[in-house]
Amino acid sequence: MKQQQGDFFGDYHNNDSALDIQGGVVQPPSVNPYLDRVPKKKREIQPASYYIDGIFSGDRTILSQAITLVESSLHSHRAVADEIIAACQRHSSKTESMRIGITGVPGVGKSTFIEAFGSYITSQGHRLAVLAIDPSSERSKGSILGDKTRMETLCNDPNAFIRPSPSAGSLGGVARKTRETILLCEAAGFDVVFIETVGVGQSETAVHSMSDFFLLLMLSGAGDELQGIKRGIMEMSDLIAITKADGTNVDKANMAMALYRNALALFPPTESGWKPTALTSSAVTKAGLEDILRKIKEYFELVKSNGYYLKKRREQARFWMYESINDGLKEMFYEDENISRLLPYYEEAVLEGKLESFSAAGELLAKYKGE
Ligand code: GDP
Repeated sequence: MKQQQGDFFGDYHNNDSALDIQGGVVQPPSVNPYLDRVPKKKREIQPASYYIDGIFSGDRTILSQAITLVESSLHSHRAVADEIIAACQRHSSKTESMRIGITGVPGVGKSTFIEAFGSYITSQGHRLAVLAIDPSSERSKGSILGDKTRMETLCNDPNAFIRPSPSAGSLGGVARKTRETILLCEAAGFDVVFIETVGVGQSETAVHSMSDFFLLLMLSGAGDELQGIKRGIMEMSDLIAITKADGTNVDKANMAMALYRNALALFPPTESGWKPTALTSSAVTKAGLEDILRKIKEYFELVKSNGYYLKKRREQARFWMYESINDGLKEMFYEDENISRLLPYYEEAVLEGKLESFSAAGELLAKYKGE
């Protein structure tokens, strides 16, 4: 860079005078002159082919960027996201991945189990993606998997990919984005996908609607064996794993396992032809992890041979088609210019008791249809 000050004083140097004035040290500017050259943090969206090629070549950074696009609620991102999803869907329909839903109440040892079981799975030559559905994550800033230090080994495993729950408000929205993320991960070569959720609320049903196999983690404990988890969740489980079966807890865990086996035997036969069972496991001693993977593989062998694997996936696809239509219709309605202008007036009229809620809804829908 041209040093203005030095040049200016340089004229005096030619005089060869005793009164020569030294230029001194040129001070650095107080404002960074390169500031405008620092790349903006906001990343430009690339064409869909950039993400698709990156995903197919297994580039994890591009996979993460593509998931961020899929999770984005910006309209300008949706078209590229849809293109990526469609390409990945075509690809993932050709692979026979294992989508495993995992649930259990907080404190059951879910993170520790996923870390231990996930590491065992990758040691067996699989590539594992760990995703989560946590509709509360916006409020709690990501209670599940938000804190990656809880899964340090898996985070540093080149064959594992961990992605926290998307933090978009409604359960439906979060679930849909997770379902799309599964497709992207499978296209990137992850053949085992964990979809984790907390064992409370409605999110189990959402996880069930996108997984092939449902694993329920349960604690052993005096008298509370059949409590804490709703019967419906037990009924949809393909396997119950009693956690923390180590040290002084081994006997209690075995007792709980026997109890759950009996309870599961009382449920009506499953459509898959699979007989759900219970096992014990310890994330500390790693006991039971091998048996759990063996059971899971037995399940996949069965359902792939009897056609249930494909049937369930197709039914899930139908479910997601309707979910997408419902989402799309809602979005179109609420984003309609006329509707968003009228909505506050109708809302006020309903609040003031001047208009019945059903009439208000009917009128707004009629206006939307242009009647
Ligand atoms: P989460 O809330 O279900 O994710 O539970 P965490 O994985 O955070 O575990 C809850 C507590 O149980 C922690 O203190 C863990 O150290 C402990 N824990 C988890 N797995 C095991 C296990 O296999 N054996 C024993 N003894 N403790 C465990």
